[in-house]
Amino acid sequence: MINIVLFGPPGSGKGTQAIKLSEKYDILHISTGDIFRAAIKNQTELGLKAKAYSEKGNLVPDKITIGLMNEVIEKNKNVKGIIFDGYPRSVLQAESLDEVLTKNNISVSKMILLDVSEEELISRLVNRGKDSERKDDQDANIIKNRISVYNKTTLPVAKHYENQDKLAHIKGEGTIIEIFERICEVVDNIV
Ligand code: ADP
Repeated sequence: MINIVLFGPPGSGKGTQAIKLSEKYDILHISTGDIFRAAIKNQTELGLKAKAYSEKGNLVPDKITIGLMNEVIEKNKNVKGIIFDGYPRSVLQAESLDEVLTKNNISVSKMILLDVSEEELISRLVNRGKDSERKDDQDANIIKNRISVYNKTTLPVAKHYENQDKLAHIKGEGTIIEIFERICEVVDNIV
């Protein structure tokens, strides 16, 4: 199984690239952000728990997110591979992911980190906010908070996989196709 953690700050293009990767390599795309947004929209129990955190640009507590993802992974043991988009976002989440994958005799193959300057991130998020329903992209303070949560809580996850020799940096600026080609080069070298 090819298991890829697509990593980077909010606005780095993880979602866009994850969809393309999932099509090209026929592997499952799991986006925690999409799962939470759908749950909030449908007012499920998970959505009601996640709403207050997500709306402010804070992380949903690890206990909820880890429980959710462990279930999703257990349900998808027979897929060819998984692209994790938006998970893990804390060191505890990374440790839990490693644990549940090990239990199933698999592991993270590679973490791909999309490097994008902070200036470019803010401009992309503000633009996305103009033509989407995402409230967290429509408020400068929420955008700033998400970037600060990323730097403080999420970025250490890169070190976690660097220590396992699994981290690949990709330049996340340029056209969608250019970035996709850079990512594919890394993925093609996995096996
Ligand atoms: P972005 O990368 O643009 O910030 P996402 O769509 O990945 O957006 O996530 C949206 C929101 O969902 C986050 O701000 C956070 O509240 C919640 N979320 C997503 N993934 C996680 C995670 N792994 N742990 C905790 N909260 C998460």
